[in-house]
Amino acid sequence: MKVSRRTILQVAGFCTLAIALMPKMAFAARNSLRTVRTGLQPGNKTRLVIETSQRPSYSLSYPANQLIVTLSNTSANASLAPTLVSGTLVKSITQAQVGDKLQIIANLSKPINEIPKGQIMILSPNGDNDYRLVIDFIAGQPGAVAKTNTQQQKQSVPTEKYTIVIDAGHGGKDPGCIGKNGTKEKTVVLAIAKKLKTKLDDAGFKTYLTRSGDTYLKLAQRAEIGEKKHADLFLSLHANANPSRSMKGFSIYTLSEKASDEEAQKLADAENAADKIDVSGFEQFDKDIRVALSALQQHAVAEMSVEYANGCAKQFKSMKITQQPGPDVRHAPFAVLRSTVPGALLELGHLSNATEEKLLTSASHQDKLVNAIVKSVKAYNFDV
Ligand SMILES: [Zn+2]
Repeated sequence: MKVSRRTILQVAGFCTLAIALMPKMAFAARNSLRTVRTGLQPGNKTRLVIETSQRPSYSLSYPANQLIVTLSNTSANASLAPTLVSGTLVKSITQAQVGDKLQIIANLSKPINEIPKGQIMILSPNGDNDYRLVIDFIAGQPGAVAKTNTQQQKQSVPTEKYTIVIDAGHGGKDPGCIGKNGTKEKTVVLAIAKKLKTKLDDAGFKTYLTRSGDTYLKLAQRAEIGEKKHADLFLSLHANANPSRSMKGFSIYTLSEKASDEEAQKLADAENAADKIDVSGFEQFDKDIRVALSALQQHAVAEMSVEYANGCAKQFKSMKITQQPGPDVRHAPFAVLRSTVPGALLELGHLSNATEEKLLTSASHQDKLVNAIVKSVKAYNFDV
């Protein structure tokens, strides 16, 4: 489609706004653009805020020195005057209507890398604000963003774009819980983690294990691997123990400051106890994370984690894997989940139960668990 008219407006003295409109609006867009603004966040982060009348559905692309945010089923705002503060990476902003899609094109002073999901959030209306798509980014490595126009236009996103960090709980001097027949949590979860890595690799994801052998890692080191790999999802695999040997089933947890129930708190205490020997490393890491994440971002990460965890519970149930009585997803202050990466802690079954101890060591049941997790990852909406 050809653009018939291009209006250039001077905005804020130093930046320009170009509006490219179609000859006639041949569609009734569900969503409309309200405002665009930039801000500067701690750590020299540029914040781009796109406000729309409805919850936006978006995709991002990264041509040289540009960030293009494509909003589905959205109409342009002809009287848009973006508020651009100085000192950010955004030099100017252009909007272009392409059919029923609206492109917000941010022209940047420096190239950027692909923005991890944890740096993007959608906020619901509050006060004077409508829906806001909030994107935080920093300058990236030159050359890491070279993508052609045709690549950007692709609608389907290859899964290799997404990075999953798989954390086999415990290891080395910390065996985790131990079954009646001597099965160690650290051993079964490592076996399952390795199988999961293979299957997710086969499905096209980029995966990393926090440990690939019988080694001890502090909880902060595990969480830090998720950060360093710019993971889109962090999965910590565990097996449970209960004073009642009849207790069975899987349970799924996400991070929260306050436990959803007493049992979840006890479990978090038990899992966190692995680090009692030296928590100093974690305290520093925890501080860094708190600095890096605003309260809003912490909320966004928590929301995405719960979304994943709910989907995961659904897959486990649909594959008839026994569920521990209680809610699908519980919350507790698990140290290993404290990061900017959305994630969940999966208790895959009870080693304290003789039947499940046997199951957890059997190849066929491990495969079943792995298949359920792979399905949950594939079903997870990485792009909001
Ligand atoms: Zn554990």
